[in-house]
Amino acid sequence: MGPTLSLGHLAGIRIRAHWSVLVIFVLIVFGLAADRLPHAHPGLPGWLYVVGGLATAVVFLLSLLAHELSHAIVARRNGVDSDDITLWLLGGAARLRSEAPSPAAELRIAGVGPLVSLALGGAFTLLTILFHRVHGPGLLVEALGWLAGINVLLAVFNALPAAPLDGGRLLRALVWWRTGSRLRATEVATTAGRALGWLLIAAGVYLVFTGAAADGAWLILIGWFMIAMATAEGGQAELRELLGSVPVCRAMTPDPMTVPAATTIQEFLSGPSWVYRHSAFPVTDPAGRPMGLISVAKAGQVPPAERERTTVTSVMAPLDTLPTARPDDRLVDLLPAVQAAPAHRALVLSEERVVGILTQSDISRVTNWLTSAGPTGINRVQPSG
Ligand SMILES: [Zn+2]
Repeated sequence: MGPTLSLGHLAGIRIRAHWSVLVIFVLIVFGLAADRLPHAHPGLPGWLYVVGGLATAVVFLLSLLAHELSHAIVARRNGVDSDDITLWLLGGAARLRSEAPSPAAELRIAGVGPLVSLALGGAFTLLTILFHRVHGPGLLVEALGWLAGINVLLAVFNALPAAPLDGGRLLRALVWWRTGSRLRATEVATTAGRALGWLLIAAGVYLVFTGAAADGAWLILIGWFMIAMATAEGGQAELRELLGSVPVCRAMTPDPMTVPAATTIQEFLSGPSWVYRHSAFPVTDPAGRPMGLISVAKAGQVPPAERERTTVTSVMAPLDTLPTARPDDRLVDLLPAVQAAPAHRALVLSEERVVGILTQSDISRVTNWLTSAGPTGINRVQPSG
């Protein structure tokens, strides 16, 4: 997803901001301070419009955060943990660690977001009416009115039945409940997502040619993001479905060759037991316990003059930075961690011993097998120990 900025923790969930949020923030502040506020209430000092725009944009981001946080909290109540929330161009994304356990849980997790936005829209509408009645400051009434409108818009847009929007998840829950197939449900939701994306692009192009270039550009951008995200979500769902309940031990390379901690880089790079065999090896202490992972590339970065004096432990990736799993864990649950890890590898541990190593190409091999042979026959094979 590109560079993000960590903003801290809220209710135990890490909050991040994608760089595109900064662009949105600036555009909103600019739109309010230079256009909407001065048009509604002309003749005030310029700094007042800027302060008003800034404050409104901050409250808008907080509304987005409330929306995403509600997804994460309801998900946690339904047994699905979320790693973090990233605010970005389309609003936000609560990254859930696994899939909802049932259609009803999916319904609750997806449904709460638009409801929160709608409730915020309602609250801001009431405040707008209230401050209007008591003749409160005009800029404040204008800002509250804008916040009411944008939150209702957020609720309505997110409720559209197309992936990756919340409405897409609701659609998915419905099809999943009716057909019993999660994969079929995802296909319907992601197809709807791509269709809506193209529709937005078409509408955007129309707007550009009829003179509303800025609005049109927005729609094209949002449509393009929707198509990309729906496509990615569809691919991910197919992979999850395919991997099903395959345990890690079926895919890993068992009993990998290890490198003792005292080995120097020189010994490692010329050791006949390691040369040409793999590109990374687990490092173990004298008792055989795992300490980390040494890769040929990392070892090769040590200048030749220092290779005799440097041990593998000083350049290895330490254990606590590596994804690990137990042999009977599900492969599908390890997938995101392996893809995100710099070395694209996970160590498989059992009773403080390395019993296997799992690489991205192991996963590709398994998916190749499953697509070619069909999952039904292979999934029933039990782990052999
Ligand atoms: Zn949402």
